[in-house]
Amino acid sequence: MSDSLSAPQLLRIRAKLEAMAAETSQLVRSQEATAALERMRNGEFGVCVECGDEISPARLAAKPETPLCIDCQALKDEEDV
Ligand SMILES: [Zn+2]
Repeated sequence: MSDSLSAPQLLRIRAKLEAMAAETSQLVRSQEATAALERMRNGEFGVCVECGDEISPARLAAKPETPLCIDCQALKDEEDV
């Protein structure tokens, strides 16, 4: 698993999510961050809630609160248009 997140990366991501979760002026993002922290506690962080695939570490680093892999996100974006 050479492309998975390292422990220091995970710690940084968790700190970022905790800061995001506390940011109540951005309610949706705060809720997403809270849900992501919950998944982290359950050992499900980094797995797409839609299809169960692993979310790429690069995507998690850029957008750690996302519950979706890039494919499911693309589908969802199409639906939202
Ligand atoms: Zn997916």
